[in-house]
Amino acid sequence: MTSPAGTPTRAAFVHCPEIERYPYPPNCPFSTARAGLARKTVASMGLLSGPHRREVAPAPADRGALLEFHTARYLDALQAAEAGHLGVDGLGMGIGTDDTPVFKGMVAYASLACGASLKAAGLIDAGEADVAFNPSGGFHHARAATAAGFCYVNDIALACLHLAGAGKRVVFLDVDAHHGDGVQDAFYSRPDVLTISFHESGKTLFPGTGWPEEIGVGDGTGYSVNVPLPPGTHDEAFMRAFDAVAVPLIGAYGPDVIVLELGLDGLAGDPLAHLSLTNNAYADVAEQVLGVGRPILATGGGGYHVENTARGWALAWSVLCGADDGPDGLNVGLGGVMLETTDWQGGLRDRHLAPDASQRDRIVAEIDATVEQVKANVFPHHGL
Ligand SMILES: [Zn+2]
Repeated sequence: MTSPAGTPTRAAFVHCPEIERYPYPPNCPFSTARAGLARKTVASMGLLSGPHRREVAPAPADRGALLEFHTARYLDALQAAEAGHLGVDGLGMGIGTDDTPVFKGMVAYASLACGASLKAAGLIDAGEADVAFNPSGGFHHARAATAAGFCYVNDIALACLHLAGAGKRVVFLDVDAHHGDGVQDAFYSRPDVLTISFHESGKTLFPGTGWPEEIGVGDGTGYSVNVPLPPGTHDEAFMRAFDAVAVPLIGAYGPDVIVLELGLDGLAGDPLAHLSLTNNAYADVAEQVLGVGRPILATGGGGYHVENTARGWALAWSVLCGADDGPDGLNVGLGGVMLETTDWQGGLRDRHLAPDASQRDRIVAEIDATVEQVKANVFPHHGL
């Protein structure tokens, strides 16, 4: 993509060392170190500097900013829980489960990770960046008054509210292995934020929602789109669904900005999910989204194989900032989700991962049926 003036994409990597200082408890699979690992990789490749690339430090989102989406009672309960006062109120709001543990720095981390997404939104809104990537963002499960799935503060909902509040038509595209339920709910009755989520089916994965029948309500009818995928979904099948659903919808909607949740827990070998993607699929998604020619706010998200996720985000950044040389370039073939990390020799792209023929046919048939359902439910609302 080029900026309106015809100059190359201006890309901002939103990160600061402080954001790496707040680990979740050791038994929790969510790693806050992934963003720093991705940053280290792209920095070593020289992809954080130059005329059109830069690193931008975020500031924590303050209480006033968080209140644009979250309730005061919920924010109070988060503070109280971290101070050692987790009561019935907090427990009722989902705070203090295995998936939403209370830990030292919890509020500071959530506020800073959210502040990074708001910084990215601000850069885009001000026309100062064409692409802004916050690898520490993507907490799509948090609700206004509920913590869920490692998410306390919904940075995406807040960023989308900021952009929509500035009069922009927003597409929120979520390719995390889990359904983007919190963001969907936040905009379920609104047509100014079109949410599109590709995720492993709720039959086999948390949170159990995200069905083709969930299409929004009232003025938002047709503006929530869900494509559940069967376990074992591989790159070709994923892109088949993406090309059939996301590409025409984004084209018809004509967004001013695209918010992209790049959770990488769909990578083969992820310890929590059951999809069989390689990072080439995510690179393809980034490439397609770039091709729309609108500003992009990209975030991280899930991804529980730490090294594969960090490398995938480094690849996504290299695509988004115009430095990737494509699947046939020098980056190909050296990495691999099927390899031990010690076998990785420095390239960013995974090896191609082909399913066996019978599994391939079964998955493609299942996805084709889902795609037809999604199209029938949603496309007429967009003149498609
Ligand atoms: Zn996820």
